[in-house]
Amino acid sequence: MRLGLISDVHANRPALETVLDALDDAGVDELFCAGDLIGYYTWPNEVIDLLREREMTAVKGNHDAGISDTPVRFNSVARQALEWTREQLTDENRAFLAGLPETVRENIDGHDIYMVHGSPRRPLEEYVNGSSIGPAFIESCFEEAPDVCIMGHTHHPYSHKVDESLLVNPGSVGQPRDGDSRASYAVLDLEEMSVEHTRLEYDIDAVDEAVREHLPSTLGERLYHGL
Ligand code: ZN
Repeated sequence: MRLGLISDVHANRPALETVLDALDDAGVDELFCAGDLIGYYTWPNEVIDLLREREMTAVKGNHDAGISDTPVRFNSVARQALEWTREQLTDENRAFLAGLPETVRENIDGHDIYMVHGSPRRPLEEYVNGSSIGPAFIESCFEEAPDVCIMGHTHHPYSHKVDESLLVNPGSVGQPRDGDSRASYAVLDLEEMSVEHTRLEYDIDAVDEAVREHLPSTLGERLYHGL
């Protein structure tokens, strides 16, 4: 059994389509999304529709939550994007985002799989830096550690084995922030308990152009730098 892992799509359709094509070619069995489907870019409905068609398992990110809450915790550019997104969303997709769980824990083929956007301690807020993860983190989060803990939110990909748990952040599909502009995703092989991270180039120009029509241009510019 192999799981396609994605996160932080942020309504970037060209990036998502590129990643989904690659996951189809790789023949993954299931798709897991660690939140932030929307916010920042201009295809919120299309991105949600594409992911719903694939019956992905998803959790709610802080931007997804920002659609129904007052988005006070965001910087002004993120807030503008969220306010614009709120106007665009269909009622059905707004309800879909509101209905996403903050955490998911599933047994797949005998493997205990946990997923959250931020951290198990603060699902929508905490940024978990890959290099700071150790046994103390796992202990503070779980009574019983899962086999796999999937997290997003930082837009930085990593995978680490800590004791018996595999911690994975697939990075960001729609707005990487590790200095690499290519879309990021991962494939988790449950039999081997191994993770393969992949980066793919996609049509950033198309996103930049669409941003300029509707949103602050900095959102397009940062994509070229992976920031
Ligand atoms: Zn994000």
